[in-house]
Amino acid sequence: MNPLIVGEDIWKVYRVGDVEVQALRGVSVTIERGEFVAIMGSSGSGKSTLMNILGCLDQPTKGRYRLNGVEVGQLRPDQLAEIRNQQIGFVFQSFNLIPRTSALENAQLPLFYRGLSLKEQRTLASAALQRVGLKGREHHSPTQLSGGQQQRVAIARALVTAPSLLLADEPTGNLDTESSQDIMGILEGLNRDGMTVILVTHEVDIAAYASREIVVKDGQILSDRATKGRSHAVGA
Ligand code: ADP
Ligand code: MG
Repeated sequence: MNPLIVGEDIWKVYRVGDVEVQALRGVSVTIERGEFVAIMGSSGSGKSTLMNILGCLDQPTKGRYRLNGVEVGQLRPDQLAEIRNQQIGFVFQSFNLIPRTSALENAQLPLFYRGLSLKEQRTLASAALQRVGLKGREHHSPTQLSGGQQQRVAIARALVTAPSLLLADEPTGNLDTESSQDIMGILEGLNRDGMTVILVTHEVDIAAYASREIVVKDGQILSDRATKGRSHAVGA
């Protein structure tokens, strides 16, 4: 089978007025199905830019990106949106939930876009909320939930479509240590059940949950190595 992700010599150049910012400078990376990858690097190194390209939110300026065997670089915006809805779940640092809207409705949203019946939406969204430990909180709105619980709703929303790839950009960046561990435990469980997870973080103890660590610096891959993963880590 094809690898899930094949990036070849990916460049991303932003133009801001007269200034050119080379956010990615020739990144090549292959990620197989079922991997749990942490992308690390200091602020401004290009992590989010890479994540946005891998997640089909953005396209390379130069280079090739294949997801599930499909060349993404040439697709139209509506085709990219279709791929995102069908194959990718996103989790962000700031949760990005819809305010004044229940956890259930937030988790239903990707299914609404898929045109599923309301009944199917509710059934699948309830199951996803249960998966992240929020059974009984379906009708709470984000303001009635803690940060960790809000991020769990966001994870439920990301996995409700059964994506092949889960992308998490600094998912614990706004959370305390205990909630961060909860969230990472959930991502770890999803990976154990077969989901490919790519995580952006600049925290070493968060990256330790992954089994592969890619370090980005100045828009290039500085190192790419297998790590033991948390289950083998000291104290785990
Ligand atoms: P990281 O996520 O590692 O902090 P980013 O991928 O957000 O890094 O940014 C990489 C570089 O690209 C930085 O220099 C940043 O200022 C620049 N950059 C990111 N997004 C844009 C944009 N939309 N327009 C212009 N420059 C950008
Ligand atoms: Mg970033």
